[in-house]
Amino acid sequence: MPGYLKNGKFWMKLTNEFTSERRALIAGNWKMNGSLAFNAALLSELKTGVQSLAGLTCDIAVCVPAPYLAQVQPALQDCAIKWGAQDVSSQAGGAYTGEVAASMLKDFSCHFAIVGHSERRIYHAENDELVAKKTLQLLKAGITPIVCVGETLQERKADQTEAIVGRQLNAVLHAIDQTDLGRIVVAYEPVWAIGTGMTATPEMAQRVHAFLRSQLAVIDKEVAQRVQILYGGSMKPDNAAALLAMQDIDGGLIGGAALKSADFLGIISETI
Ligand code: PEP
Repeated sequence: MPGYLKNGKFWMKLTNEFTSERRALIAGNWKMNGSLAFNAALLSELKTGVQSLAGLTCDIAVCVPAPYLAQVQPALQDCAIKWGAQDVSSQAGGAYTGEVAASMLKDFSCHFAIVGHSERRIYHAENDELVAKKTLQLLKAGITPIVCVGETLQERKADQTEAIVGRQLNAVLHAIDQTDLGRIVVAYEPVWAIGTGMTATPEMAQRVHAFLRSQLAVIDKEVAQRVQILYGGSMKPDNAAALLAMQDIDGGLIGGAALKSADFLGIISETI
């Protein structure tokens, strides 16, 4: 099977057969940023930049505000960058004002949707049960959920990191069908590192990623080795290489740096 050595890890394409190695995923989370004009310029720079990166084997995605899916789908359909949403309703449809159903995301051929981002958990009081329901809606629609987990600074200081991220992840793992384990992506995003410029050290992040994989392994040991676990929290071109070199860090969920083409491309190029 073809692969290559980079950052001390052996990278290779995922195949349907079992492999203990994982393809990297660099996903941008635009949050509530952008405009038609801003997006057009950013997408065009990203497309050109990605086309010029030789030897690219990672997956790339941008998760955009829902109204811009109609812009992003035609802009990206002929290139290697995939697209997704930042949230989804826990309901299939009906009288849920303001909500966006998974079937609607599918209408725009979304590959991914983020669920359980800390900004949803904190500002919209989303709990583990709701995140699990949203995950189920996405799986039913054939969209890959990017399930975010992460502890606050207070929880880390209280030595609660594993208890918190374990609880958040297990709520999803116990709701989904065991056979769907390989269809989810997990993102470890320490809340204290999001948008703050503070990053978990590679070793700190690796410890949590290894713990998360051990939780996945309780459900299915072999599939757990294939699940991509992303790190998110102030990842930038200058700290990406060290984070991505860690054994269980399979890519990044990128906020601020995803809004600048040079930064996002800089992170992507660290996977080559
Ligand atoms: C995020 O919000 O998912 C994120 C990782 O943000 P930032 O990269 O800006 O810390």
